[in-house]
Amino acid sequence: MVNEGILEAMNPWEEAKQNVIAAAQSAQIEDDFVDKLLTHENTIQVQVPLVKEDGTKVHIHGYRLQHNSWRGPYKGGLRFHPQVSVDEAKALSLWMTIKNAVIDVPFGGGKGGLAVDPKTLSKSELEQLTRSFTREIAQHIGPDVDVPAPDVNTNGEIMGWIADEYGDAAVVTGKNIDGGGSEGRLEATGLGGVYALLEYFRLNNIDPATQTIAIQGFGNVGLYAAHFCEQNGIKVVALADSKNTVIASEGFKDVLTLASAKRKHGSLAAAVESLNIDAKVMPADAIFSTHADVLAPAALEAAVHEGNADDIKASIILELANGPLTIEADQILAKKQITIIPDVLVNAGGVAVSYYEWLQNKQRETWSKQQVFDRLEKQMITAVKAVAAVQFDNKVTWRVAAYTLALQRLQHSFLNKS
Ligand code: NAD
Repeated sequence: MVNEGILEAMNPWEEAKQNVIAAAQSAQIEDDFVDKLLTHENTIQVQVPLVKEDGTKVHIHGYRLQHNSWRGPYKGGLRFHPQVSVDEAKALSLWMTIKNAVIDVPFGGGKGGLAVDPKTLSKSELEQLTRSFTREIAQHIGPDVDVPAPDVNTNGEIMGWIADEYGDAAVVTGKNIDGGGSEGRLEATGLGGVYALLEYFRLNNIDPATQTIAIQGFGNVGLYAAHFCEQNGIKVVALADSKNTVIASEGFKDVLTLASAKRKHGSLAAAVESLNIDAKVMPADAIFSTHADVLAPAALEAAVHEGNADDIKASIILELANGPLTIEADQILAKKQITIIPDVLVNAGGVAVSYYEWLQNKQRETWSKQQVFDRLEKQMITAVKAVAAVQFDNKVTWRVAAYTLALQRLQHSFLNKS
């Protein structure tokens, strides 16, 4: 399950817009096209009835923002959270359009959800609500129209209910494997980020074995990024969860075992202690000032801001989380000549494997984990090379290059459609 940091981020729609405008200026893309791209195609709002176990009937606000479909069906998460912000959903659906274009999967961007705290519902109420929501939006979604996925407070089981209610597995991705999900989806975002980093090293003649990494966030993305760094000889020297940073200058040796110990003991600090690992336990924020070649924020949005950007010692930022840097942090880091490999490229492995899930469902195939990993590796390498080429030609940052590539691809699709 993803964290809820985006809910605290500063006006995400303004930030998303600024990134698009900056790339459009650099690539000399016309205002008219940018205006079209900054306009959402459909906003669907529904009131979903729910009869609670005590007999009371309530209506829950449901929504789906369909940002853009020039490259294919809308694609993006469904979150169940009481505080729904339109600006946030607008930004997240635009980000999905950009991300899907950068990684080059044939999808557009969408985002949606229900204004509810699922922790206040019993499991059968949650299932009933999810199924009612599916019926309410059924005419707007579909394998070739709009393909939702899990997000904050939603998971494979909920996606399975949607697929069952709709009557077609390919209508959603992120399902549990026994409900038509794909092998490798669990690892996909962290692994995709490591494939991107390895390709960046290759392009810059950097030997991974000489590199160290500090990772903020030890959930799904942070854990698998750490694991695949270990497997590829990149030394993981610091990890952080919401409570502490743990630093092992000689490198952690087995982060999967560390994750099991964290599940058992409740925190990274307790896990390190239980396994007798020689590591320094520091406050959570210490991750930013840790000595490491790469800093990978894989937790909250806006985690790096003007208050801590100056502390960063790394020379590369690998944006595994969505929007982990504020605009101010981005500017401070640029002045310090720190390379930022952006989220729309680095964490696109998740949506790439969602695409493979959709393909497997449509073609009634089941791919092995190795097939998924091999295809993901090729897709990440191709995307990194394409962004690197724009970055080199236009002498811009990696973020502007990634957005420029996405805009060029979107413009191409738009012109071919009209
Ligand atoms: P998760 O909920 O599994 O893990 C989040 C981790 O962040 C937890 O370990 C938590 O302890 C930690 N954390 C929270 N606050 C912290 C703090 N202040 N300092 C340090 N650590 C803190 O979430 P996830 O699925 O790993 O997602 C992480 C990020 O990656 C989010 O921004 C998400 O939007 C993005 N992302 C996830 C996927 C995916 O496939 N899961 C895909 C693309 C992007």
